[in-house]
Amino acid sequence: MKEYELAFDGFKVDGDNLLGGETGKGFKQLMQTFESARIQTAARAIGVAASALDVGMQYAKDRKQFGKALIDFPRVSGKLAMMAVEIMIARQLTYFSANEKDNDRRCDLEAGMAKLLGARVAWACADNALQIHGGNGFALEYKVSRILCDARILNIFEGAAEIQAQVIARRLLD
Ligand SMILES: Cc1cc2nc3c(=O)[nH]c(=O)nc-3n(C[C@H](O)[C@H](O)[C@H](O)COP(=O)(O)OP(=O)(O)OC[C@H]3O[C@@H](n4cnc5c(N)ncnc54)[C@H](O)[C@@H]3O)c2cc1C
Repeated sequence: MKEYELAFDGFKVDGDNLLGGETGKGFKQLMQTFESARIQTAARAIGVAASALDVGMQYAKDRKQFGKALIDFPRVSGKLAMMAVEIMIARQLTYFSANEKDNDRRCDLEAGMAKLLGARVAWACADNALQIHGGNGFALEYKVSRILCDARILNIFEGAAEIQAQVIARRLLD
């Protein structure tokens, strides 16, 4: 990503434009958005993971080595199978969290779990899909190199993995 600096010097804003509408409540208001933000980030992670599975599968079918398609090598098809399993688990946990949220039930624990797991699964799937591409996976021409970059950020924004783990540990130890 690129970074840019914004500076506001003596810039007056009318009180009616206060985000959230109440003075001193910003942190609390922000916290209230976190459950949905983590669920949607988990959903995005599943999209990245599914995309990795798609390109990994296609490449494994198309690429021939030693007289057969890569997918015919068990160590390759095993990677694809594990991706499918991990995506299924992460997706179900994300659906569960979203359902809790839709029914107005507290779900910070489940949302944190879905986000933490989703980000890990996205990274693992992207890494495995890149491995299936061999050297080509490292080339910008192949979509999987971009998928790996996209997967990496998921463990950092909307609450880094360490923070998700802390939220989960606190709730479990309560
Ligand atoms: C592409 C991108 C998009 C982003 N989009 C947004 C956005 O839309 N809105 C927004 O508000 N922010 C956004 N961010 C910011 C993002 O949320 C922060 O980068 C993230 O929260 C980590 O904060 P930091 O970068 O200051 O890292 P730091 O807080 O400096 O953390 C560095 C490392 O130390 C660990 N660490 C820090 N504190 C603790 C602790 N208490 N316990 C254990 N480990 C800890 C972190 O987990 C991390 O591994 C975005 C960042 C990126 C890269």
